[in-house]
Amino acid sequence: KGIKDPGAAEVLGRLAEAGYEAYLVGGCVRDAVLGRSIKDIDIATSALPEQVMEIFHRTVPTGLQHGTVTVLMPQGMYEVTTFRKEAAYEGFRRPASVAYISDLTEDLKRRDFTMNAMAMNVAGVLQDPYGGQADLAAGLLRCVGIAEERFGEDALRMLRCIRFASTYDLEIEASTWQALLANAPLLRHIAMERVRSELQRMVEGPAPARAVRLLLASGLLANLKKQLPLPYEAWLAWDDALDVVSALEEQHDRWAMLLMLLEVPSDVVRAALQDLTFSRADGTAVAEVLALREAIAAQVAVEDPAPLERVWKLGAVRRGEAAARALLRLLRELPQVEGKRGRLARFLEETAPALLRRGEAWLKEVPCFSLKELAISGQDVAVALDRQPGPWMGRLLQDLLERAALGEIPNEREALIDAAQAAK
Ligand code: ATP
Ligand code: MG
Repeated sequence: KGIKDPGAAEVLGRLAEAGYEAYLVGGCVRDAVLGRSIKDIDIATSALPEQVMEIFHRTVPTGLQHGTVTVLMPQGMYEVTTFRKEAAYEGFRRPASVAYISDLTEDLKRRDFTMNAMAMNVAGVLQDPYGGQADLAAGLLRCVGIAEERFGEDALRMLRCIRFASTYDLEIEASTWQALLANAPLLRHIAMERVRSELQRMVEGPAPARAVRLLLASGLLANLKKQLPLPYEAWLAWDDALDVVSALEEQHDRWAMLLMLLEVPSDVVRAALQDLTFSRADGTAVAEVLALREAIAAQVAVEDPAPLERVWKLGAVRRGEAAARALLRLLRELPQVEGKRGRLARFLEETAPALLRRGEAWLKEVPCFSLKELAISGQDVAVALDRQPGPWMGRLLQDLLERAALGEIPNEREALIDAAQAAK
């Protein structure tokens, strides 16, 4: 027993020597109780921020407005926050002001869920005034205090609720769930960046299907309609398919799978991901997979190997080899799914089997996927044709790339220059 992290033990010990109370709090205590590995360590203390800064040599005032000082120890960084209570929440997100207090129990009371409202002293003794340990043992996620009030104070807690329920495999306690249903409309007040960060942790975590189902059942997703106009009902038709999402290891694949099941045009998906504050690179990686599938579906109605091969290879060049390989990973997970519906179902029945059989081998036959891999450069073409560079060059190079990719001309300098001259 006792705290295994020597740096944390040192911080708690020095605070205690100086006459203050100090505890580990929040996620690290929860994870310790569950026997899980601990990420970051948060410490709560009766010392005021300036007192914390006097005790330790190396500190950074990372969040003075809410009483947080980061203490730098040889072992790592520790966030030390003065016991506080939160007053007057504004705008359904975080309190307008905080007041320092001297009582741990009062500090734990402002925390979101009972399992996050436990503290541990340097000897490893648990302080658990709201029954977090019992709830964890029963597999329950429960708000501290009156759930209705807690979600009304800070609407982000509703997303945290679903994130914790899915990632820790917990049932949401009845009154907490009722409060979530009642307060779901408040979600529209939460900044997209926060929404994205929580959704990302759900989708990229251990139980994305359960998270999506809870988001649908709670009405939280429906309340994001204005910001994210996606046809969420489509997921109900693909309920079984949601389970295969967790079989995908790559995070982009998970998003691509979910969004493919919604059957939203790829440009809408691209815009939605950008509105969700995903990086441009993330948004593009996902949207290109969907765009590739659309291009194939639009051109190959019936399974017919010859045109499919051409459409697939061209698609892989236009959308990128990475997108092509990602699409194959998605399709590999989907045949097991029952109850397929809609246009996507036709694609899965008619086109996907052929792609799964031949797609990989076809990609191996493609000698070049990008202009970088083409055996000549724009400079070479300009010299060979004795022409000033201009928009014509990009079009010509793309044409040469696609023909070389399809094997119509060899990816060799001489042959490509001949083809460029003939095309002129
Ligand atoms: P993880 O780091 O795995 O997301 P965590 O519980 O440590 O889990 P943090 O966001 O790091 O979550 O917050 C640390 C602690 O602060 C929480 O355990 C909880 O006690 C409290 N807390 C965080 N966000 C809120 C919130 N929106 N409302 C109330 N308490 C919160
Ligand atoms: Mg944490």
